[in-house]
Amino acid sequence: MALRIIIGLALTVIAAAIAGRRLWWLYRLGRTGQPAPERIEALRKHPGQGAETQVVQVIGQRKLLKWSVPGLAHAFTFWGFIILLLTIIEAYGDLFSKHFALPLIGTWAWVGFIEDLFAVGVLVGILTFAIIRIRANPKREGRKSRFAGSHTGAAWLVLFGIFLVIATLLLYRGAQINTGDFPYPQGAFASEIVGHWLHPLGRSANSAIETTFVLAQLAVILGFGIFVTYSKHLHIAIAPINVLFARRPNGLGPLQPMRSNGKVLDFEEADPDTDVFGLGKIEDLSWKGMLDLATCTECGRCQSQCPAWATGKPLSPKMIILELRDHAFAKAPYLLAGSDKEREALPDAVTAEAERPLVGDSAAHGVIDPDELWSCTNCGACVEECPVDIEHIDHITGMRRYQVLVESAFPAEAATMLRNLENKGNPWGMGEAKRAEWITELDFEVRVIDGPIGDDVEYLFWVGCAGALEDRAKKTTKAIAQLLHTAGVSFAVLGPAESCTGDPARRMGNEFVFSMLAQQNVETLNEAGARRIVVSCPHCFNTIANEYPQLGGNYEVIHHTQLLAQLIADGRLIPINPIKEKITYHDPCFLGRHNRIFTAPREIMEQVPGVQAQEMHRCKERGFCCGAGGARMWMEERIGKRINTERIDEALGTNPDTISTGCPYCLVMLGDAVSAKKGSGEASESLEVVDVAQLLIRSVQQPASVGAPAVPDGGAEAGSDQEDRA
Ligand code: SF4
Ligand code: SF4
Repeated sequence: MALRIIIGLALTVIAAAIAGRRLWWLYRLGRTGQPAPERIEALRKHPGQGAETQVVQVIGQRKLLKWSVPGLAHAFTFWGFIILLLTIIEAYGDLFSKHFALPLIGTWAWVGFIEDLFAVGVLVGILTFAIIRIRANPKREGRKSRFAGSHTGAAWLVLFGIFLVIATLLLYRGAQINTGDFPYPQGAFASEIVGHWLHPLGRSANSAIETTFVLAQLAVILGFGIFVTYSKHLHIAIAPINVLFARRPNGLGPLQPMRSNGKVLDFEEADPDTDVFGLGKIEDLSWKGMLDLATCTECGRCQSQCPAWATGKPLSPKMIILELRDHAFAKAPYLLAGSDKEREALPDAVTAEAERPLVGDSAAHGVIDPDELWSCTNCGACVEECPVDIEHIDHITGMRRYQVLVESAFPAEAATMLRNLENKGNPWGMGEAKRAEWITELDFEVRVIDGPIGDDVEYLFWVGCAGALEDRAKKTTKAIAQLLHTAGVSFAVLGPAESCTGDPARRMGNEFVFSMLAQQNVETLNEAGARRIVVSCPHCFNTIANEYPQLGGNYEVIHHTQLLAQLIADGRLIPINPIKEKITYHDPCFLGRHNRIFTAPREIMEQVPGVQAQEMHRCKERGFCCGAGGARMWMEERIGKRINTERIDEALGTNPDTISTGCPYCLVMLGDAVSAKKGSGEASESLEVVDVAQLLIRSVQQPASVGAPAVPDGGAEAGSDQEDRA
């Protein structure tokens, strides 16, 4: 007895020392990051949200369960290990007394049953993981495998380790039944089966098996505990912390303001010698950024949804995190050195690692290749999928900020766009008077504000640069204006006083140009007294609704599809003309994933008689990008397949007559891809890409008299109401 106590406790002390030392090292490394007081503050202000995420996401495994089979396997393994904490206590208790039972509940049959149920659940879980890993073997599947680039050897080791935990558990419990030391009279069905197998060996052999496998169980668990702290399985311990301090509701929507030393950077007062301008080196990450790196489970869910990766580009959100993590670990001795003398004494390999630029091509030994960095469309699929709430876009934006603001290193073709934004307030560099030209193409008056908005104006219509200046998007703008007019909604526009929201500059990393444009717009909107704003471009929507509050611009912002759906529901717009077409809807990333507006555009389509809506496989939260976000609209796409072509190939799979969307960027990107497909004979000449508003207006207006509202058959009341408002 004494010997097993000594062995058990000695193993525990050694394991605790090794794991504790590693955890202390990781903690110190995390502390080398920048402060992130906003994360603490958010949690302090909203402790309920923090608690909710722990319940829903950590205990409830909400994000993991979105992928049903691996989700269930993970949930069983996770819940299993929580339940099996009881068996670990029992194993330690057994060291001291062979008749040990948990206080109060230790002899209850249902406790024994639950323990065994989850032990078997964990076995089924790891068997499922093994099958998934065999089927998605990167050696066979190549880039298609979500595990491509992950450390698969370590993953197999962990699966084997978990198997050993359960195997040793069942063996010592089975032996305990035969020695009479088992605390549960019944219920522990799996242990009873193992006990039945071991029974013919006799009591003394079973006693030896019990002792051996209790110690083996503790050794395996302690070994596993050490391994966890040195591997991607560290997520077991720190994922709940990462989730606790994640942005709420998630890392989508707004970009965060630039911070230096924990404070929002003021460009007018910034000091180039002491302030941090984005991520230029690994220690420029905040501690939360460092925590992100350590939390990645290498599951590859993000990679599997990334449009850049899917079209053969070098960017994988998973690899970005892993490359940054590997660099942080390799540079750690340098970061943790207490003095210059200590740093000078470091091995050459560490010094070389410390000198690597965070972004640079292979000649510069950069941690992240520029082609990876600039391939990101900010679509948010990675953030949406990540089960441990890693905020990939924030990392990518941070590195872009440094490249643009400090290194002036970015794709050359985007320079024109940035110059146009600075000089003309729109990406195309057109004169401001052009912004109001679409109004002259309508057969009714549109109010252009040049002072405070009157109380009689229900909505300020934010047209956006594309909506005002790009020919295809202008059609959407005119359709929206016509529909609002038809429904009797009083609205006004800023016309020449509107300028780019700054989204393309911010997503490029040029926070300086963004601040300039955004401050100017917030000033214009505040002076006009804007309260309710209807926006047609999801990028403008995201910026005004979610980012302008960072600059003191607080408005009630609605997307045009939401307003139009509401007008239909209120009977102020009545789709009457049938459109007998098969239509597939493309979710714009900044409308759908970033702002959770999935229903309104679909509701509009449902209300148009004759429309046969057909979903693409990748839709709603899993929608596939058009390739324009993250300022990619203004960059050449030289590597791999074009993202818009990939999306159109998927759309063509539904054999549509029309492809609809709710974003001017998507309209242009998908329209270009359709034109190319028509040129190669792969798409019918009649195939169109239109905004949902364009569809609606075709159904609302009398075909023969554009501009006149429809009167539905037998719908005199609603029809006359509509006519009255028009
Ligand atoms: S935001 Fe989209 S494009 Fe960028 S890394 Fe994530 S999934 Fe890939
Ligand atoms: S970043 Fe998230 S989704 Fe991607 S591999 Fe890591 S844990 Fe999985």
